[in-house]
Amino acid sequence: MKLIDCHTHLHDFDEAEISKVIQRANHATVAAIITAGTNIKSSEKAISLSKTYNQVFPGVGIHPNELNRGFSEEMSNQILELASLDDVVMMSEIGLDFMENSPDRAIQYKAFRRQIGIARELSLPVVFHCRSAYEDTIRVLKEERAFEVGGAMHYFQGDQLIANQLIDLGFYVSLGRPLIRIPELQKVTLNIPINRILIETDSFPQPFKKYRENWTEPRHALDVANEISRIKNIDVEEVASVTSRNTLKMLKNAIMLKSHFDRLSHHSET
Ligand SMILES: [Zn+2]
Repeated sequence: MKLIDCHTHLHDFDEAEISKVIQRANHATVAAIITAGTNIKSSEKAISLSKTYNQVFPGVGIHPNELNRGFSEEMSNQILELASLDDVVMMSEIGLDFMENSPDRAIQYKAFRRQIGIARELSLPVVFHCRSAYEDTIRVLKEERAFEVGGAMHYFQGDQLIANQLIDLGFYVSLGRPLIRIPELQKVTLNIPINRILIETDSFPQPFKKYRENWTEPRHALDVANEISRIKNIDVEEVASVTSRNTLKMLKNAIMLKSHFDRLSHHSET
């Protein structure tokens, strides 16, 4: 059995701890971990971590909550440069967050749209954050044609309508630990086809928790897989193999698009 944790912030853990976190993940059958940057510095960290551990793959992006000082042309160019590196497998973490005290919405829209544009330029899937902004997120995904590169709404906690809209656009729904405690989300999950589901932990250091062993880690992807297995009455091995295949398909989609594009541009030259 091999699981993929398709969204974590592993590079934010204490450096001395990371090899043990990965070891624990491996013991819990998590064979690949995608670590998502949230600003320029953290995106660089995600890339450099992926060079140290062969089961770690980086995403790059500016998170909507990291936009308090705006989204400059320079930031846009830096993220384009990072996203262009061969190791990078997705544009993440980007998105919209309309919770109280979150950064100016106009800036969030600008950053989200521009980063979808970069993803399209480089044929990378987008794995996006969405809080209190479901309608707006879906509208931007449509307007910016993000469905051409595909991707997933991460840490999904939306309702059936939102899930259906995402699936209709060809996106995946990425589920984390909230699935274990939210009955409404379990009901929605029952109606999401297994071939549209991804698994993640969104893990990051949680010093506010009293006991270290309670921190969420990539190893908890197995708990999410077990919960999906329970809800859908599908063998957990099947859940693992389908969701991992989904993640690979989402990533491969980008490569296929790229070769398609290369073929097309070659064609137009001759
Ligand atoms: Zn995240």
